[in-house]
Amino acid sequence: MSDDLRELYQEVILEHGKNPRNFYASEDATNEARGNNPLCGDQLVIYLKLDDDGRVANASFLGKGCAISMASASMMTEIVKGRTRNEAESIFEAFHGICTGEEAGHKLSDDLEKLQVLSGVSAFPTRVKCATLPWHTMVAALHGKDEISTE
Ligand code: ZN
Repeated sequence: MSDDLRELYQEVILEHGKNPRNFYASEDATNEARGNNPLCGDQLVIYLKLDDDGRVANASFLGKGCAISMASASMMTEIVKGRTRNEAESIFEAFHGICTGEEAGHKLSDDLEKLQVLSGVSAFPTRVKCATLPWHTMVAALHGKDEISTE
């Protein structure tokens, strides 16, 4: 990765971390789950509203943590909106692949390209948990689980 690109990625992460999208407790959520990453101190709640077809009609979150976890949660809520449960889970798998560096077979489609900014965490195993926490929590919420921890 070039230094320019790395800088751009950092900018995007910081910007999302400072101004997270969909940062509120959703009152009409059908599914919600709490995620905890004790290693870093990241804590968040993911709110999902599933419609009758099992599509994610709305997604939001609240929480506190490092810039990476907040940026990842912010992007995640933007991306899963309008997706079916299965689509949301396969995006998570692809995202997990780029975070852990096991990219093979998980090429991100164009509309998911922006998640690539978080791929830098693959060099830092403890940071992978920060980046994937919101996604693990989102999948837990989809499955009706209340809580997950990275420990
Ligand atoms: Zn973190």
